[in-house]
Order: sequence, then C-alpha cells, then structure tokens
Amino acid sequence: MCYHTSQMGIINLLPENLINQIAAGEVVERPASVVKELIENSIDAGATEIIVDIEDGGRKLIRVTDNGCGMSREDALLSLQRHATSKISTVTDLFNISTLGFRGEALPSIASVSRLKLATVPKGSISGTSIQIDGGRVVEVKEFGGAVGTTIEVRDLFFNTPARLKFMKSTATELSHITETITRMAISYPSIRFIYNHNGSPIYNLPSSKDLLSRVCGMIKEEEKSFLPVSLSSKINVSGYLSGPDINRPTQKSIYIFVNGRFVRDRIILHALIDACRTVMEKDRYPLAFLFLDVPPSDVDVNVHPAKSEVRFKKTDEIHRAVYAAVSEALKGWTARKGSGQSYEFRTPDSNYQERVSEAIGRYAANQGSGVGGQGSAVGAYGNTPLQLTHSPVQGSSGGFFSSLTVLGRVGGTYIVCSAGNDLCLIDQHAAHERIAFERLKKTYRDSRPESQTLLIPEIVDLPQSEGMLIREHLEVLSRTGLEVEHFGGDTFVIKSVPTALSNKNIRGLVRDIADELAHSGRTKSIDELMERLFSRMACHSAVEGGDYMDTREIAALLSDLDSIDFSSNCPHGRPVFVMLSQVEIEKMFGRR
Ligand code: ADP
Ligand code: MG
Repeated sequence: MCYHTSQMGIINLLPENLINQIAAGEVVERPASVVKELIENSIDAGATEIIVDIEDGGRKLIRVTDNGCGMSREDALLSLQRHATSKISTVTDLFNISTLGFRGEALPSIASVSRLKLATVPKGSISGTSIQIDGGRVVEVKEFGGAVGTTIEVRDLFFNTPARLKFMKSTATELSHITETITRMAISYPSIRFIYNHNGSPIYNLPSSKDLLSRVCGMIKEEEKSFLPVSLSSKINVSGYLSGPDINRPTQKSIYIFVNGRFVRDRIILHALIDACRTVMEKDRYPLAFLFLDVPPSDVDVNVHPAKSEVRFKKTDEIHRAVYAAVSEALKGWTARKGSGQSYEFRTPDSNYQERVSEAIGRYAANQGSGVGGQGSAVGAYGNTPLQLTHSPVQGSSGGFFSSLTVLGRVGGTYIVCSAGNDLCLIDQHAAHERIAFERLKKTYRDSRPESQTLLIPEIVDLPQSEGMLIREHLEVLSRTGLEVEHFGGDTFVIKSVPTALSNKNIRGLVRDIADELAHSGRTKSIDELMERLFSRMACHSAVEGGDYMDTREIAALLSDLDSIDFSSNCPHGRPVFVMLSQVEIEKMFGRR
C-alpha cells in the first residue's frame, strides 16, 4: 500500500534528458537513423553539397557536413533543445508541411545518446559556434571560424544506453542500412552533390545531376536504356522511372517511392505499381522503380510514424488510380519499343478457356487418326511435346515411390503425367527441379562439401554498393554452397564457380538475386533462416524451366532424384511438387460413386 502511494501519488515531470532518451528510442533506432535525420536537416537548410563520413558502420563516427544556411549561436543552442524547430510554428503549419523535419526532436534525441559536436557558421558570417554535448549535457560552447554551413559529428552512439548498444548489428549490416538511407536521399535529390566515405574510402561521389536517371544508374549499375519514363500529371503527379520487364528483382527492395520528396513505404502505392506490372512481369518478380508522387500537402499526413517512412493519404483510391494509370501508360511505351511481335503477356485470360478446350478436342480427334495410342494423344491434345510412352516402370529405378511410377506423358508444358497403380500422379517438372536443387544446396552446405562447377571463363558482375557489401560479408557462407565469388575491387565481383545443382545460364542474375535477398532479409533473419531463403532463391536458377523439353532418361533421373527428398521438410516456395488424384476421386468425377 505504502509502496503504491509513494510510487503513484505524486506526478513528476520527467527530467529533460530522460525525455530525450525516450524520444531517441523512437527516432534513433540505429546509425542509419542518425544519418537520415542529419541529412534531412542539411537538405532543409538548403545545402547543395553534403558530405557524410562514417567510421565502423557508424558506431565510432557519423559526420555530416553541409554548405547550407548555418545557424547563429542562439539558434545553434536552441536547436539542441526539445521541440525547438525553425520549421513550423502553428497547428495550420502542421498540415502543410513542406520541409523534411518538423518535430524539433532529432538533434536533442541524438545528442542524448551520443557525444555530439555541432559546428556551424551562418550565412554572411565568417565565424560561428561550436558546441560539444556528451550524453545530452553541454560541455563546451565556443566560437570558431570556418566556411558557411554546418557540421554535425556524432561519436560513440548509444555509449550511455548499453541495452541499445547491444542491439547494433555487424559493421557491414549497419553500413548497408546507412548506404540504403543515403541512396534514397541521393535518388530524391539528384541536384545535391553527395560524397560518402567509410573508414576513409569513398563509397559514393555523386556529382550534382540535373537528371534523375543518370544519378540512379550511377548508383544501381544498370543501363539507362533499360528504364521507361513514368509521367502522368493530374491532381496527383506521378513521375520517375521504371525498369522494363526484362530487368527485374526477386524482392521489392529496388522499388523506391517518394511522396513530396520523402521516401515512403506505402502499401497502396506499392500495390498499384505491382498490380500494373503483373501483366508483363512473372509472379514473384518485381521491377526496379523510382516513383515520385506530388500530392497536395493538405491531402497527406506525414505525422504518422516517428521515422516518418509512413504517410497517410486522405484519398487512397485516387492515389491508387493515379499510380496504376501512370505505370500502365509507361509499360505501353515498352511494348511499343519492343515491337508488336513481342508479347510479354503472362496472364492467361480466362475468357479463352472454352476456346482452348474445343481446340484441344479438335486436335485430339485429328491425332486419333494418325495412329498414336489413345493416352499418348490425349497428352498431345494440349498442344505439348508428345512423349515416348513408357508403360513400364522407369529403368534404373531406385525403388522409391517416384521411381515406381509409370510415365504416361506430359501436359501443360511442365506437368509429367504418371500412373501409380490405379491412381494418377501429376508432377510439376520445374517445381521438382527446384525442390531437388534446394535440397542439394542445403545438404552440401550442411556437409560443407560443395559440388561445384568451375567456370571456364569467370563471370564479372557489378553490384550496387550496399548489396556488394553484403555479398562480401557472406562470401565464405556462399562458397560452402559451391558458389565461389571473389571481390575484385570497387563494385566488381568475379564469379569463379557455381553449384552443380544450378544452371549456369544466368549467373549474374543468380548473384544479383542473392544480393537482393541478402539485403532484403539478411538483416532480420537468423543465419539458418537466411540460408534457407538463399537456397530457395538459388534453386529458382536450377537447370530446367517449366516448358523445357525433357527426354525419357531425364524424366527417369528426375523421378529417382525425387525419391531422395524428404517431403516432410519445408518447401522453398510452398508450391506443391506433385499432386495425386486417386481412383476414387476420378470415379467421383465421372459420377460413378
Ligand atoms: P527539425 O528538423 O524537426 O526542426 P531537428 O532537431 O532535426 O528538428 O533540428 C532542429 C533545428 O535545428 C531545425 O529546425 C533547424 O532550424 C536547425 N538545424 C538543424 N540542423 C541544421 C543544419 N544542418 N543547418 C541549419 N540548421 C539546422
Ligand atoms: Mg530534423
């Protein structure tokens, strides 16, 4: 009882520094969040050049130098106080925000969990102020001379909050977050010159550019001609660039969306974009996109998320429609460019179904006359490669279920039709290959005995900075799967060998997909989970595609490989490898039961 009264009876105002540390918990998640806040301030200050120096993934040092408007001594001291901002002053302002910052929280929050030094010279002056704050306490304020602009140095982040310190990830991981942050800023502001160094070596040196596309291509290592312009003006303007369907990625990581200049992750916009691309892009693949939306500031609430990467729109359907229309329009440009002969239609329009069925029946009737056996022609009836019929169990059977099947033929380009006694079994050849490759990769990784195929001519691949960094961190793990990649210097990597289970058709695509996967899930997943995802990603590159022709021997080998797989374990894509139709089910279909 006493305990309660003493704890709860009196309301205390929390000390300022504690409030700042609590706010820091929201604003300053990791070094990259500091970088983001500091760069935003520089942009708000009108900088045309921003230099970012990082040491040890940001644990040791984060320094942002700009040539913006600078601050007077009075403002510099104020800027470190909570809710001190030069950017808004009334509630009306809050609904018409055009600057990146507005809460006046970032600087005091960062200062409360680090040793921060602010040095600033205001426009029109040759001398300025330098302030040192350790863990939120001002230790020194002095005059200093220098060029107009502001430098903020953040050392020993989280030195006084050990719990947060523990949550920091490896240098490469933190650095990749920082790089991602700077990448977004650099895409959003092509006209600002960005210089970005880590431990003294340059990562970005991006000159001021008039043009979004040249800036983007410099960073992501793709060619300008692979992109389509997006441009639609209405009440909501949508502009930017989108990769053509043949340049795509396995995750949504390379989709950058900006609303009024601010990077956002927004489900509505993503959905509209992906939906519009679906007509020309395969399932599970995503475009590279840099989309900018201009939405009237009064129609969007940016004050939703502490890190401000989420926004709320007043008229979501308008946003969706605008993005969908803009992207569809851009893709029309692609079809035109490719010529009308090229079809990128992956969707099967269901209205044609009846037509296709009668066509198939017609072909079946024609084949009947050509002397091919009944079942065989039924297979051919769907317009696929007719197979040699094997009415006996496949040769060289390993004695398992799959080897005991009788192969009847193939339909739909990818389904192997078999009988299992009186039951019917359909196997998806592509899914089966993927599954086998997945299991092999898993096994060789587990046994540390990679089966690999050395490339006669090593492949060279250029990767964007942040992804290259992650690949470098995982070279050893990758080599355990048989994928030998070497860092050649700069952004360039050399691929020396690939796992035997994988095709070597598109090795660069493979490595890019791995990089993308690492960047997408490498930070959140445990190493085992990550490897599973990687294997699944790599398995997609296995030799046989749906639609590829397979001869009887290849089918036999596939079936015997399937026997070695434990189907109780996780499947990479969650799609079935085979389905069974029992005699009972077949009889039910024919109304016999
Ligand atoms: P906010 O950006 O939300 O206003 P911050 O804590 O990030 O809050 O910054 C507080 C204030 O400090 C800003 O409103 C701005 O006036 C000033 N400031 C911060 N960084 C800079 C900079 N690089 N150049 C000029 N002024 C700055
Ligand atoms: Mg700010």
